[in-house]
Amino acid sequence: MKSLTDKAGLYLHIPFCVKKCKYCDFYSAFPGGGLLDRYTEALTESIKKWGGRFRRPINTVYLGGGTPSLLKERLVPLLSEVYKAFNVTDGAEITLELNPGADAENVLKYAKSAGINRLSVGMQSGIDSQLEILGRTHTCADTVNTVKLARNMGFDNISLDIMIGLPFSDVETLNKSLSLLKELSPEHISAYLLKIEENTVFYREKEKLSLPDDDNSAEQYLTVCGFLKENGYIHYEISNFCKKGFESRHNIKYWKGQEYLGIGPSAHSYFDGRRCYYPRDLKAFLKGNEPVYEGEGGTKDEYIMLGLRLSEGISLSEFEEKFRRPIPEKFIEKCRLFNNVGYVNSGADRISLTERGMLLSNSIITELLECIE
Ligand code: SF4
Repeated sequence: MKSLTDKAGLYLHIPFCVKKCKYCDFYSAFPGGGLLDRYTEALTESIKKWGGRFRRPINTVYLGGGTPSLLKERLVPLLSEVYKAFNVTDGAEITLELNPGADAENVLKYAKSAGINRLSVGMQSGIDSQLEILGRTHTCADTVNTVKLARNMGFDNISLDIMIGLPFSDVETLNKSLSLLKELSPEHISAYLLKIEENTVFYREKEKLSLPDDDNSAEQYLTVCGFLKENGYIHYEISNFCKKGFESRHNIKYWKGQEYLGIGPSAHSYFDGRRCYYPRDLKAFLKGNEPVYEGEGGTKDEYIMLGLRLSEGISLSEFEEKFRRPIPEKFIEKCRLFNNVGYVNSGADRISLTERGMLLSNSIITELLECIE
């Protein structure tokens, strides 16, 4: 049972992008016609409203998007409203997603005054031609410059995102991105395998993209895992790596079934055993709509599905304690079979995926869930 003293996370969604990247299906709009100001006002109203009813202490705040760095000077009053409305604990992790770019200095200045202490920078690739194919608005020089500026301003918790399995890519091109990563030496790295989503330019043009096949993508993923391990990073979640002590405290809440409140169109929440979300509808949010109930959270399936994303995996005794019954024997049996082929580490209490297993996580988890009544 959760108590009101358990620490929760707060996610604020900023649904604007100046240009849509060709692979992206996130909810975002073009920020013209005073929309940024109107959105900041609506978001501030929602923060005030939620502050009155969401009384748990908050130890992580995450501004994601979209492109939250577009808010610039608006970050300062917005975050100040967050500190006023919610019980944000001392030393809370406050993250801002940021696209590298010409106005980085300005954004970083406001981020610093707003109390942001962690940056998540969308590097995506260490090769300019790949950035162009992706439809990104920045270059590798912009990434280097943004990280340098951030370091000079005292940001000491920086995460960089890169993408794997890009069009026209192979291990050789990937190694160029990895060299740049090594040079920039961020505290945290997220490495995502490109997935071609419907309603994207890439989906419509996928025949022309010369995408690496499954074996090559797998080789790229394992190359990233090996390279980062050699360079002192801990692989703590399927797509996430960090130097010791620099896990994303906010994102860990999602995988460990801890509570969080999400505000903004398309933002999801989980608290009091319930999941809810704001529809992907900017106009409705501007008019002050409420989130929609999605269903019960914290279920056995979620515990397994989310927990197995983490390298530490799930604990059989914790499962038994939480759900007041042991995990079914056929689940354990299935894990043994996966263990024999090198996809699962199966210990006395903990079950986790190996790196090869992480590559097949969706199908492995689906098969394991079939063993849960
Ligand atoms: S990838 Fe990021 S910057 Fe690009 S369109 Fe999607 S949300 Fe916007």
